[in-house]
Amino acid sequence: MEKVSKYYLKTYGCAANEKDSRDIKNTLDNLGLAETKNFGFADVVILNSCSVRQASEDKVYGVGKNYKSGYSRTGSIPVREYPKLTILTGCMVGSAVGKRKRYELIYLQNKMPWVDYFLTSSQTKEIPSILLKEGFLPKTFTCNASSLPARGGILSAYINISTGCDNFCSYCVVPYARGEEVSRSKKEILAEAENLASIGYREITLLGQNVNSWGLSQKEKFSLRAGSCHKLPFAQLLRDIHNIKGIKKMSFLSSNPFDFTQDLIQTLKLPKISRYIHIAAQSGDDEILKKMNRRHTAKEFIKLIKDIRKSVPGIEIGTDIIVGFPGETEKQFMNTVKICKKLKFNVAYISMYSERLGTTAQKMYKDNIPLKEKKRRHKFLTDIVKKAKL
Ligand code: SF4
Repeated sequence: MEKVSKYYLKTYGCAANEKDSRDIKNTLDNLGLAETKNFGFADVVILNSCSVRQASEDKVYGVGKNYKSGYSRTGSIPVREYPKLTILTGCMVGSAVGKRKRYELIYLQNKMPWVDYFLTSSQTKEIPSILLKEGFLPKTFTCNASSLPARGGILSAYINISTGCDNFCSYCVVPYARGEEVSRSKKEILAEAENLASIGYREITLLGQNVNSWGLSQKEKFSLRAGSCHKLPFAQLLRDIHNIKGIKKMSFLSSNPFDFTQDLIQTLKLPKISRYIHIAAQSGDDEILKKMNRRHTAKEFIKLIKDIRKSVPGIEIGTDIIVGFPGETEKQFMNTVKICKKLKFNVAYISMYSERLGTTAQKMYKDNIPLKEKKRRHKFLTDIVKKAKL
């Protein structure tokens, strides 16, 4: 009997990566490879990386210590027993290609000589041909779409409605790592949703770095303000998917405050839309928000959350907050504390500012809040959020 190759797939970071990994897993399963949760047993290792924080990148660099048998190369082939093939994808690779790159690919190649292939998220469709070339698939295998049946099994699915981001929040690597913001066509999205519903999927999560601005030009979206009266193509898209028979629940990620208009607030009332919504505040201080290039003020954010709660009583709200942004004074931090006390978030992901190479914040501001102080603010705010919920 032919030996089945085993793969180990590790995902770092956000829902966009989880979605990509789910697609990679389906591809590998359909190609006949078997998943292992044990790195040591894997023939093929795939790491889907995240660049949002230095700590996320460090975790990926740290994987190298698992290559016990060494990885010195003879030509392009590393000398080692296991794993035989290693592929790195996700935002670390995205940051090294295209016109928005933050560093050269050679930087990653030098830091991770144990990686055989560096693929951007959109290049992961090349995985079958790489596996074929490297001898993990029978020679008779042909790489075409029909060899890769659609996802199966589970009842919830992600649909990418857009890729990339043009917002350039000053601390964020996504506009570099994932490139320009591009909306998929409505026709394609509706066809995918209808197909998923017809094969048994009941829950759909629409994904994009900035779903609210789906279908808008840059000029249109940057003219919007939180809670304004503009009609949004995204709100209409939600209504259209809501009409698909078979779909029972819908959610979406990620939403920004600045282009969250009244039209979108009204769609939250639709019965299939999730009663949990995530909107990143990042700070409660206007000066810090401006330095972050967030395009909303604390007052606008507070009004937006109040409008959403008025429109959908009982809706749960989650948020993201960064503490210790360069130059954040105690007073500015306390403005963030105030907003958390006032809005009583159901969930708050609080992170300490982490300087990211090539971002505007890294170029313009000194990372001058000591780690000890960042940790204090993180703990203080975590306790406030917990108490405010009670
Ligand atoms: S909206 Fe801001 S934080 Fe979100 S991905 Fe785009 S640049 Fe990053």
